[in-house]
Amino acid sequence: MELRKLLGDRVVERLASSQRFAALTGAGVSAESGVATFRDPNGLWAQFRPEELASMEGFLSNPERVWQWYQYRRHVIERVRPNPAHRALAELETLVPEMTLITQNVDRLHQRAGSTRVLELHGNLEENHCADCGLPYCDRISDESPPRCPACGGLVRPSVVWFGEMLPADVLQEAERTARRAEVFLVVGTSAEVYPAAALPFLAWQHGATIIEVNPTPTPVSAIAHASIREKAGSALPALVELIAAVRTTDGMGQTTLRRR
Ligand SMILES: [Zn+2]
Repeated sequence: MELRKLLGDRVVERLASSQRFAALTGAGVSAESGVATFRDPNGLWAQFRPEELASMEGFLSNPERVWQWYQYRRHVIERVRPNPAHRALAELETLVPEMTLITQNVDRLHQRAGSTRVLELHGNLEENHCADCGLPYCDRISDESPPRCPACGGLVRPSVVWFGEMLPADVLQEAERTARRAEVFLVVGTSAEVYPAAALPFLAWQHGATIIEVNPTPTPVSAIAHASIREKAGSALPALVELIAAVRTTDGMGQTTLRRR
């Protein structure tokens, strides 16, 4: 099989015998579902710089505009569906003892595909909270303007990480722990250039993980990857997960380690 040859015997053996899998996913995975991050096809929002739409400064200078941009994105996400890459990663969770997904995406398509253990480094588009006191906001919202916090009257904002903001410390800490523990670490659809997420594959590599990169073009991770699959995630991941399923049942190695656990 072509993929088997590309990965090589050592990587395939790791896929068959490892207990702890992890994956870092980025915009490339969502793009195949039709979720553009900042460039919408209609050009309605293209006139704004990303910082105007996704930073606290941008929000404070024009809360309505930023809120409408997020409502637009929320409606886009309602219309799209998880793609084969999302579904393959969800299936992987059922094949191995431990599988943690670390994502830079905020669209929750991984969860909709069935993944249950997802660390959202950049928050998510579904939730809102008060920009002043941090209280989660779950009441009704409109498309036009942000609601006011019932506790303090502050402006309610989407629970995503904006430019210039720290990643949620507990999530990042858990992601780093996952990277250090992983035996197999997949890097999928991300240019791996935005820190601190970009450091996770290197952390995993330093701690002995087998690194498999899935990206159409080379990235900084390519230098340390044990295998690089130069394809879109939607075609590469179903094949990879099918191979993992096959080697864990037919080789017997996976079964043995599973039973030992
Ligand atoms: Zn508040």
